[in-house]
Amino acid sequence: MKIIIRGIVQGVGFRPTVYRVAKSLGLRGYVLNKGSNVEIGIGKKGTEERFLNSLMKELPPIASIDEIEVKDEPINGYEDFEIINSSDGEKTSVTPVDTAICDECVRELFEEDNRRYLYPFINCTSCGARFSVIENLPYDRANTSMRDFEMCEDCLAEYKNPLDRRFHAQTISCSRCGPKYTLYGKDKEVVVLAEEKNPIATFAKLIDEGAIGIAKSWGGMHIICKFEQANRLRTLYKRPAKPFAVMFRDVNAMEKYASLEANEEKMLTSAHRPIVLLDKNTSSDVLDAISPGLGNIGVYLPYSGFHYVLFHYLNSDGIIMTSANVSGEPMIIRNEDAFLLKADYFLLHNRKIVNRIDDSVVRCCKGKKFFLRKSRGFVPTGLKVPYKDRVLSLGAGENVSLSISKEGNLYSSQYIGNTFHYSYLYSYPLF
Ligand SMILES: [Zn+2]
Ligand SMILES: [Zn+2]
Repeated sequence: MKIIIRGIVQGVGFRPTVYRVAKSLGLRGYVLNKGSNVEIGIGKKGTEERFLNSLMKELPPIASIDEIEVKDEPINGYEDFEIINSSDGEKTSVTPVDTAICDECVRELFEEDNRRYLYPFINCTSCGARFSVIENLPYDRANTSMRDFEMCEDCLAEYKNPLDRRFHAQTISCSRCGPKYTLYGKDKEVVVLAEEKNPIATFAKLIDEGAIGIAKSWGGMHIICKFEQANRLRTLYKRPAKPFAVMFRDVNAMEKYASLEANEEKMLTSAHRPIVLLDKNTSSDVLDAISPGLGNIGVYLPYSGFHYVLFHYLNSDGIIMTSANVSGEPMIIRNEDAFLLKADYFLLHNRKIVNRIDDSVVRCCKGKKFFLRKSRGFVPTGLKVPYKDRVLSLGAGENVSLSISKEGNLYSSQYIGNTFHYSYLYSYPLF
């Protein structure tokens, strides 16, 4: 029997789960990524129902299934169950979204004897950067910007071990073989090289001392500083009133500044990890400098290994962490462009950002969430529409995004920003 599964099934640990379930039932056959779908071959007719029932119980947390097609086709030549190489095919599903670091990876991140201790790019099959690093489907390392980093022996052993939680994790890496951060000064001079000392520790110390820094994340760059530097940041970027997002170390630190309801906390700690607008619970000059004249404040929690490591070294419990772009331009993603921004220090890594993806912004109301900005953690996802035509829509000048519909599904792009012109980035002075 041949089974085609459509939905968010690549980059989420789906094939390893299929493998484990098939092995536990003693089945022979194969699983592979085909186009944007997963194809499973099962050698024994009549076992597919039991197999699918078991699979549904074991689904990885970020997988979601739109459709299952079962075909009566013979599968020959498989003595065992195997994960085989991906192949091209129809591309109707969407790529997986960037998913916040899971609890298991956070635990490993702070284990002193773990080989990924304080490694900012830690991830597994259930978490990590996805959309921001994917160039094409099927979702395999060769189709991502992790292609530039050859796995070390230890990572390769985990990648190949069906019992390891990083089995076939396409973005697997460690401090030996993965991307690295380097800290630069204003004139692009290297301040701390990853190989020498710890650039994130130095960056954190400089931020605590009052510096304004740029840090590269998964799908873009953040401007980072202490609350006390808000007014200097406003002057520097000519943003007199724009509210700044704030990242807190944890929920406790957040509660000193904003009031939090159960559904808001659930959203803040979810795998989507968006910025959530919360009501301020005190009035102070510090809070007013972050979002002048507003009763609310945009807050979020660490979502990547990098953020956890940064807070590990920071004394501050909360910092301004807002999108690094210039007015009228989308967020900056290339290292060389970062230096066009005004800042004291630049903490950049050497993994290419393939797809720009800004932080999502939501507001919770009566148990429901409303998007002010639909981006990281939520995009791309498909929406069923009652027509089959292909339609492309673009716009508008503010909160730019685009949507394309195909075969009854509508896909919206990430939030791109406020922009009224083709990028001037390389031909005009910025400020
Ligand atoms: Zn993980
Ligand atoms: Zn490695």
